[in-house]
Amino acid sequence: MLMTANSSSPADRRAVGEQRDVSEARVALEALVVSYSLERIERQVAEGASAVWGGNSWDTPLLYACDTIPVGIEGLWREDSRTAESLGENMFQIPPEYCSMVKTIIGRMHLNKESQIRRVLYFGATCEPINNVMELVKMEGYDTFCIENVTAFTAEEKRPEVVRFLASELQRAAIWLTGSPVDEDRLREEIRRKNEISRKVRQVLDLRLRDPFVLGSVPTLHVLLGTSHLYGDPAEFGRVLDLLIAELEEATRVPTTRTYIPLVLAGGGAGSADTLRVIDESNAAIVGWVIAGTELYSEDMPPLEAVAHYVLDAQARGELGEGAGTSATYRRFHVERICRATGAKGVIASAITGCPYGSVVQQTERDYFKGLGIPIISLENTIHKERPTEEQIMRVRTFVEMLS
Ligand code: SF4
Repeated sequence: MLMTANSSSPADRRAVGEQRDVSEARVALEALVVSYSLERIERQVAEGASAVWGGNSWDTPLLYACDTIPVGIEGLWREDSRTAESLGENMFQIPPEYCSMVKTIIGRMHLNKESQIRRVLYFGATCEPINNVMELVKMEGYDTFCIENVTAFTAEEKRPEVVRFLASELQRAAIWLTGSPVDEDRLREEIRRKNEISRKVRQVLDLRLRDPFVLGSVPTLHVLLGTSHLYGDPAEFGRVLDLLIAELEEATRVPTTRTYIPLVLAGGGAGSADTLRVIDESNAAIVGWVIAGTELYSEDMPPLEAVAHYVLDAQARGELGEGAGTSATYRRFHVERICRATGAKGVIASAITGCPYGSVVQQTERDYFKGLGIPIISLENTIHKERPTEEQIMRVRTFVEMLS
């Protein structure tokens, strides 16, 4: 029997990971997610705080060491994204077949005239359309900064001069943010703090493997997304993770005997929260996520170099969940590792419609996993927070049924 998100009994809600009324940790997590709003950050900026659009998850310690709040770029399509996208098409003449992400970014930035967050930080190793749209963003009066592209596809390519170059780019970003070089002791401290958060996130994911239904896919995604920006409040995020760990330890004391289909989700959150709920309700569980890095930074080297090593290693492991670049190219190897470690029976490869990189990655993964005998489904979506189409729902359900 399929459960729905509107099921009313606590047992039913537990079955789909919707236990809002019984979990202090879930309530605290939801409050944290809601509190990380543009309005709040705008207020903080009006009171003198520094904030920047973007950041790339792996550079969070640097941003916090520069007393700067990272504002997740997904905040640009949280509200009325269709209007922003059509502005991107009609006013900025971005062809309709381009991905919804780039069109919405420029449309929203144009509409956000009153916003006091006027700076954008991005990494040159992301896709070409982003680099192009940043030129339009600049023409709209924003101050943009590009951390120049560095890529190391193999361990041999991670040469000392590559690491030094990336470290110097990070220093340049710090000077752009604050006017002076980063305080290295402070950066060391932020690296330690991010490592502590990553350890807790890993613990949550590990405990969840004992019974994925005690924490549904949507709150799990919120936990993972928090590793990018720490919800602007690292101390509170750490406290919420502690609460979650305590509750999960209790709830998973006896591993579930329920049978379900374990899956790996690669690349983004598969569209809207509703798509994730459809997966949960189809008696499947996402046991592996390729969305954000949860490995640890080295604490035994100069801190700027530690951040540089971190991103190069994470890219080569294919674990950052990025749409383009090394991380996307190598994603299949990371997915395969997770499948082997968790016993996942299938893979959902998610990409944004119109993303040229996403379609190449999906095709490569289809061929690769076919060779391994691991079933895979490609799911395309836009950045708009809309209900999945009937066709998408049907495809997910059919895929899960096929694996049952
Ligand atoms: S969806 Fe693809 S093309 Fe669009 S911004 Fe992301 S990586 Fe670039």
